Amino acid sequence: MDDDPVVQGILKAISQKRLKPGTKLGEDALAQVFETTRIHIRQVLAHLVSRHIVTHFPNRGAFIYRPTVQEARDIFAARRVLETTTVATVIDKLDADMRRKLKQHISRETGHDRNDRWASLALTADFHILIAELAGNSVLLDFAKELMLRTSLAIATFEVPGSPDCSPDAHPVITDMILAGDKAGALAAMNRHLDEIEHRLHLGATAPDPDDIVAIFQDIGIAPARRGVA
Ligand SMILES: [Zn+2]
Repeated sequence: MDDDPVVQGILKAISQKRLKPGTKLGEDALAQVFETTRIHIRQVLAHLVSRHIVTHFPNRGAFIYRPTVQEARDIFAARRVLETTTVATVIDKLDADMRRKLKQHISRETGHDRNDRWASLALTADFHILIAELAGNSVLLDFAKELMLRTSLAIATFEVPGSPDCSPDAHPVITDMILAGDKAGALAAMNRHLDEIEHRLHLGATAPDPDDIVAIFQDIGIAPARRGVA
């Protein structure tokens, strides 16, 4: 199902942060955009619910998932475990082809126009996925892809507006240490990098759900408090 063009389209829009957490995914609108049936869209949404990318509320429909503070912290904790493993594996297996791919990626990252925010975001996520790919474990690669997407959702939910996903100078430093075979240095640099991304998020407070109109009116004192009406 991950190869489905609608799934691919939605995942791409999330990774580029065009589809924000809390956005409603209307079946009719999606069917129209992707020129397909509502049945197909429903299958896609059910799949994305199982991947923690979409939430479904009865009678309200499907929305891009908004991670909680605890989930955002869990995502980074999981990335530390996974990415220290993939970095260490890449250093152990490093050959000429892997060196070439790493260098190629870094020159793409440093060479492209940083004002193109969408291209920047996709490229910086690609660095982390490339390392998982080079580590050569297809299961870890799947986890890495899922964690990068969930990171995008966490950043989109809790970020200070305008901050990038990855600090631009972190990847070349990590890469240099990998290429030098400096395992301790590379692992420390990767952990520092993930710490920095996590610390840029405002995990102190949760924003109210922007799609809950009742909550918005309650906040400004117009609607009465909600009762447990059946
Ligand atoms: Zn990064």
